[in-house]
Parts: sequence; C-alpha cells; structure tokens
Amino acid sequence: MEYKSQFLATRRRFLRNLGMTAGLSAVPMSWASSVFAQEELVVEGPPMPDIPATEVAENVYCIVSPWGFPSVENQGMMSNVTFVITEKGVVIIDSGASLQIGRMALRQIRKFTDKPIAAVFNTHYHGDHWLGNHAFVQENPDVPIYAHAKTTSAILSNQGDFWKSLMERSTDNAIAGTVVTPPNEIVGHGDEIDFGDTTVRVHFYGTAHTPSDISLELVEKRIVHVGDIAMNNRIAFMDDGSFLGTFKAFDALEKSVPEAFWIPAHGFPAYDLIEHNRRLFEGIYESAERAVNEMASPGVVKDYVLEDERVRYYAPFVNGFDENIGKYASLAFLEAEAAAF
Ligand SMILES: [Zn+2]
Repeated sequence: MEYKSQFLATRRRFLRNLGMTAGLSAVPMSWASSVFAQEELVVEGPPMPDIPATEVAENVYCIVSPWGFPSVENQGMMSNVTFVITEKGVVIIDSGASLQIGRMALRQIRKFTDKPIAAVFNTHYHGDHWLGNHAFVQENPDVPIYAHAKTTSAILSNQGDFWKSLMERSTDNAIAGTVVTPPNEIVGHGDEIDFGDTTVRVHFYGTAHTPSDISLELVEKRIVHVGDIAMNNRIAFMDDGSFLGTFKAFDALEKSVPEAFWIPAHGFPAYDLIEHNRRLFEGIYESAERAVNEMASPGVVKDYVLEDERVRYYAPFVNGFDENIGKYASLAFLEAEAAAF
C-alpha cells in the first residue's frame, strides 16, 4: 500500500510521544489505549507535493491543477484552489479534493501571508471542490464555510460519502485521513460578504454544471470565480448539469459583470473564458437540437456534434474531449428532446 510507510511513521511518532509523556507522569492504561485507538483511526495518506500558486491579480492567487481524473499518480489533485488575501484574512474558493491537498494549499498561502483563514467558499458539491475543507477547519476551527443550500444538503445526504470513497478508490487511499467536512453557512444569489477591502458577491442562476453552482465575484477587482460553469480548454462531468442552464448562467454573469476576468476551477483564468465555453457548448447543443428537429435516431447525434465547425475547432486542444464527447452528445440530445415538448 502507498501509505503503509506513512502509517508506520505516524505510529512510531505516536509511540515516541507517548513514551515522552509517560516519562513525565503516569499515564493510565485506559487513556493510553483510547488515544492509541484514535491514532489508528487517523491513518493518513502521504502529503501532496507542492504546486506553487500563480498570482492572477493583486492579492488573488490560483494553485492551478494539472488536467486529469483522480488517480494514484495525482493523489486526487484535479482542480484549482484559489485564495484571496484580504484585510480580514485569507478567503479560499474551493479547497481541493483532500485533507492533503488542503494542507498543500495552506503551505502555498503561508509563503505570502500569515493572516488567518477568514472564510472558505465551495462552488458546488463535486468532491474535488470541498473535500479539502478539513485542512482549513484544522487551521481555524471557527472558519465559516459558505455554499448554496443545495450543495450543503447534497454533501450531507449522499454526495459527501460518495465523493470521499470515489477519491479513496481512485487514488489508492492517498486521501486517507480526509474527513467529510460540509459547509456550515448558507449563501444565495445577491448575498455580499464583507472582508474589509474585498467584497465577495454571490451569483446563482439555477442549474448549470450542477443544480447549485455559485459564482463568486470579487467586486472591487471585477473578477469572478465561476466554479465549473466554465473551464479553460477542459471538458468534464456534465451529468448533473444543463446546457440551457449553462447558457443562462453565462448570459447573466456577462450582463452582471461586463468584461470580467474569469477564474475557472479547472485551467487558467482568462478574459475570454466564457466566450470559448459558450461556442463549444453551442456547437454541441445546437447539433443535438438539429438531430431532435430531424427526428434522427440518438445514434447519429454524436456524428452531428463531431461535424459541427465549432466543435471541430475546439476538439484538438480541449482536454477530456475524446473521453466525454459521446456522453455530452447524449446528454445534449436528451435535454434538447425534453425542451422540444
Ligand atoms: Zn464539478
């Protein structure tokens, strides 16, 4: 097992600490065994190697993750952790996929500031965006963790354990020790949270990538973190989302914050992020609509999608395209079919 040596090291460290304590005063055996039991329960996977943060604007940093699905090699590192240094402390937007990734993010944060962690925001309930909450609660037990109500209820009901075990399985337990730490503060559209020199405004426009994505505007900076509503040259999980809902969110965000600098949770921030995502998604969805209008069989949808000029433009450099385009085409077809009635 990957983490066996880690476990043994932890166990040795524990025995050493216990020996030191026992040397100072008599330790009741029941106490020692209960602490030992706790220690065995908190076996942890190996630390996540550092990925240095990129400064994307003044006091705004992104730990940009390489592309990938969770694996033994990447230890679950598949999405960005963004942080903003404000007058009132450090604000985290999406905390990564594990305790280890959250701790790695903290190490990067501490290269720039020793301010306390003031808040964590989770853009939606996919586990790569919130399983790292555990690390920030260890750092500041009182930290508010903000999310949409449906994100919190999804994590509390089934998505919490689902994502934790999915990440454990796909990383050979590299995330071991991560505890499901759900959001503890509910936010909705239009809410503003004051961090002194920085205001975070919440945008919510219904189902886009999931039923409860929030986008987070850094008002004074004209920057918006869009979670997974848009990605930079990546295509991912759309099973919980809606193409029409995504277009609606794009329109609303662009209208509300014109000429914003957009930060995605996958890939690098960019001014033209939404523009590119819209063109690719329109290529997919309008091809599906064409198939529905022609009452074509679902089998031809993928061909229509792959023929589309916009899709052909993006296909060569969008990560995850080949793995996902068939599923995207089917999902778009089902949605276009439902919308036609
Ligand atoms: Zn997602």
